[in-house]
Amino acid sequence: MMNYVSGTRSKLTCGCAFSPLLWECQPRNRPMSWTDNTETHILPLTLARRKILPQGKVTEMSKEYSFVLDANGKRLDPTIVQNAWRLVRQKKAALVSKYPMTIRFKKVVEDENCDEVRMGIDDGATHVGIALVQKCQKRNKVLLKATMEHRSDVGKLMTTRRAYRRYWKRHRPTRFDNRGNSRKTGRLAPSIHQKRQAVLRVADQLSKRIRIDSFWLEDVVIDIRTLVDGYKLYHWQYQKPNRLDENLRKAAILRDGCKCQECGRTNCRLEVHHITPRRANGRDTISNLITLCPSCHDKTKGNEEQFAERYYAMIRSRGNNAELKYASHVMVGKAWLRAKLSSRLPLILTTGGDTANKRIDWGIAKSHSNDAICITGLKPEGIDVQEWMLHPIRHQSKAGIKDVIGFRHHDIVAYTFKNGERHEGYVTAMYPANGKRCASLNFRSPTKHCKRVNARKCKLICRPNKIYWLRYA
Ligand SMILES: [Zn+2]
Repeated sequence: MMNYVSGTRSKLTCGCAFSPLLWECQPRNRPMSWTDNTETHILPLTLARRKILPQGKVTEMSKEYSFVLDANGKRLDPTIVQNAWRLVRQKKAALVSKYPMTIRFKKVVEDENCDEVRMGIDDGATHVGIALVQKCQKRNKVLLKATMEHRSDVGKLMTTRRAYRRYWKRHRPTRFDNRGNSRKTGRLAPSIHQKRQAVLRVADQLSKRIRIDSFWLEDVVIDIRTLVDGYKLYHWQYQKPNRLDENLRKAAILRDGCKCQECGRTNCRLEVHHITPRRANGRDTISNLITLCPSCHDKTKGNEEQFAERYYAMIRSRGNNAELKYASHVMVGKAWLRAKLSSRLPLILTTGGDTANKRIDWGIAKSHSNDAICITGLKPEGIDVQEWMLHPIRHQSKAGIKDVIGFRHHDIVAYTFKNGERHEGYVTAMYPANGKRCASLNFRSPTKHCKRVNARKCKLICRPNKIYWLRYA
């Protein structure tokens, strides 16, 4: 209950100091300060879709969609999160999960939803971009974008386990080659297997919540068709005739071993140089391109002829076949993922060069999740959608402490620091109260590993299942 007897505000009141009901309770002599409770006061009026930062800066809040199911579990079209919360408040729907937000209607919906939804996957070694794009009648909507950070500890854990096993096998007669698993064909190393499984797990979690029509996966880095002379360019490239096809650019850089062919620098921006310049009718083919660093590229400007002979000789020395060898290179485990994905839904393969072409044409910044949007091949109207960070949860927990004042390992919690910085993350360690110290938690947010924060001031957000869903603030 509110405590306004003596005109001083109790800390426990939840109401806003400026709400009309409490207006008279404000002591007249107290200067009005707009900093103490501005957020709750303004939010309902004008800034519903804006976020107020602690410093008073206001930014436009990105859109966020909630997945929607009907009473029978039929997957409906997603809706804006604010709309979903309204339905929950009106008791028309129940909340199924908070992260990612999913609601279930209390009635059966008959309408057919026929908009196509594509899931784009940008599969990388350490990060995976994931995006859901809906093809609507007028515009294409990005429903979800996320970046998954793979677990990197599996290799190390396997080595530790091997050491333990070696220890307890010491007194047995030596046997050789007795691990059926390692002789199996097509077997993946556990460190790679878990990465591909994590991608499938996200695909499965999402397809329980939304009807996905097809998976779009970036398969190889470059499209080798573009290396052939006279290859017809994609229609979008006619808009900018001066631009070099990204497939060709990537191919040239890969062929040259990702280093400057003049000075051998590797750790720098790499540019692709036309040996015979375009103004002298030099063609856009791989045999007319060479990789240079910016400073070496500058030196060639205006006097390309001086360098031409030497550069052509450099490329010729590689042999004819070298151009195509690297193009077919695929990452370990990709075939496995491809097989698993195509057994679920239609799978369409794209190339990294095409992704880059689309990204540049559509004016989208490079990131894993934005690449995933481009992979779907649907040009979105806007990409200002809540970005998620995903991380696979380790199945086996070795935690000694199971519970600290209601918090458990892997819980997603929120905590606000004294400077106003709010972090949301998953619990990594727990410390029960002992004598002097109160119960505390460690948790990892997308940007910070917060250590030893007071557990009583943490807020439990949800208990995730298999995958951590975290918001990029
Ligand atoms: Zn150089």
